[in-house]
This record gives sequence, structure tokens and C-alpha cells, in this order.
Amino acid sequence: MTSNPIWTDIDYEKDGKQTGFLGVPQSTNSAGWATVFVPIIVIRNGAGPTALLFGGNHGDEYEGPVTLLNLAHDVEQADVRGRIIMIPALNPPAVMAGVRLSPLDGMNMNRAFPGDPSGTITSQIAHYVSSTLIPMADLVVDIHSGGRSMHFLSSVNMHRVADVAQMQAILAAGRAWNAPYVFIYRDVAGSGLLPSYAESLGKVTLGTELGSASQFGVSTLRTAARGVRNVLALRGMLPKHRPEPSAQPPQLVASELRDDYVMAPVDGIFEPFVELGDAVTAGQAIGQMHFVTQPAWKPQPVPALTDGMIISRRAFPLTRQGECVAVVARPFIL
Ligand SMILES: [Zn+2]
Repeated sequence: MTSNPIWTDIDYEKDGKQTGFLGVPQSTNSAGWATVFVPIIVIRNGAGPTALLFGGNHGDEYEGPVTLLNLAHDVEQADVRGRIIMIPALNPPAVMAGVRLSPLDGMNMNRAFPGDPSGTITSQIAHYVSSTLIPMADLVVDIHSGGRSMHFLSSVNMHRVADVAQMQAILAAGRAWNAPYVFIYRDVAGSGLLPSYAESLGKVTLGTELGSASQFGVSTLRTAARGVRNVLALRGMLPKHRPEPSAQPPQLVASELRDDYVMAPVDGIFEPFVELGDAVTAGQAIGQMHFVTQPAWKPQPVPALTDGMIISRRAFPLTRQGECVAVVARPFIL
């Protein structure tokens, strides 16, 4: 098998704070010899667990980059037990272009795992992460938000995993984050997710959906900054951090049925009838599709297919057939 071509100036076994890069060799239209730099920060202080923290897996979700860049500057070696590895922009070409997918190869980083060392740049980065970084980790955190397309009630999320002890450890970490919701989701749009791969290796793995592009601001960023520190403290990695007591414990909710994910029946403009947090029942119209080019056509109602609460809805009105317009969640029972 081809070995991974990515190099780094980081020594993962060295104590102290290091900032550097993963270098991905490229050859492009504008430069025959080039390198795409993926920023990385490692803070290690002796023996202990390893946390692996990602932002910018999707390029238009900036909560992760801001949270991890702040964490990297704020935390010093003496604050840490073990090793924190941070990659604030896992897909730098997408982050710098402000788009979800890589503009270099059109790939979705969060569908590229476990990756391919002889594939395109996104596959190569995914392969380095899955073959070199995730095996070192005890805790894996992948910070996402709704980006341009979706609004979310801020949540920490995970799949239901079969191993009960692993599931309990993931739920404990999810509660410790102290976001308003702990959200158990199902994959309805393909496989190859970074969290799925980390879960399959038995890692305590958290994702997040912290708002959206238009919710990006003080409240969401505070939830992200506080949450990642709380989880590191729970795992004994930030011994001096004292989590603030929460006014309200997080609510555990799940969307585990395919029908919880309501997809647009036709192309059009989606007009929502419900807001985040609203209760809905199956058959209730949660919105309608408008046909701009056919004014004689009546709008087409879009019904909820299950009972529950709206945890997410589409943020951008123009919608294509099959795109998700809302997600319905119910209380989670293990
Ligand atoms: Zn995302």
C-alpha cells in the first residue's frame, strides 16, 4: 500500500507547545511544485490521555477554527495533563474559500474517511488523520455547525454505538460539554464521516452542531469554548479548569428514524412554518415550497413525517428536491 505523503514538523512525543503544519504535496495549475499547509498545534505535558480536536472539517463552519485557535493561544503546557492535538482547519482550502467542500477536488472531508493515501488532497488528509492521529487519541472532538445551509439548536452529537461502555462514556462527555442539547443522530447522507471512523475504533467521540453561519456570535462561541474545556476537564486533561454549574442540564434528544429528516419534495423556495424548538406532529405542515417561475401553481405543503421537536431547519430558502428542510427529534432513551 502507498504510504501517506503528508509530512510534518511536529514531534508528537515532545513536551511543550508546538505550532506547525501538516504538509500535503500538490501540483496545481499555478504551481507545478506546491504544498497545502494544514495548521496543527500540539500541547503536551507528560504522560496522560490524548485529545484530538478538529475544526474546519466543513469550510463554512467557523465555530471550530475560532474555538481551537483561542484554546491554542490560551492554554499553556503547565495547564495540561497528557496531550492535546488541535487542527483548527482540517480542510484549509475550503475554510479559506468559505465553502463546505474542498474547492481543490470537490470532496466533502466528512465523507472521505478513512481516506486514501494515493487519492486527492481531501482523501490524503483524511487518511493521515485516520492512520496516524486517531489511533493516538482517547478523545476525539469534531466541531461542526449548520454552516450556510442549516440552523441548529446548539448541540453536542454522536451516533448510537453498540458498545454500552463506549456509549456511556460518550454520553458522559456529551453532558459535560453543557450545550443545551445532547443529540443522537443517524447518517442519512452518506458514509465516511470522521466521527463514525473514530467511533468504530472505540474512541470517545463527540461532534457538535453549534448554530449556523447566521447564528455565529457570542452565545454560540461561548458554548463552544466552555464545552471543549469542560470535556477536557472531565477527562482529567485540564486539571485547573472548573466547569461552571449549569442552570439547566442538557436535554438528551435523538433523531434515529429516516423520516425524522424531512427532505424537500420539489425544487423551490422553502417557507418555514415552524421555528427551532417547536413541537410538531406527523402530517402537520412544517413549511411549504413556492414555485417562483409558475405563479399559478399553489405552494406545496411539506409535512412532518414523525412527532417531536424541531432541532434543525433549513437556513437558506432556495432549496432543491431532496435537500433537508427540517429535522425532528424526540427525547433519547438508551
Ligand atoms: Zn459540518
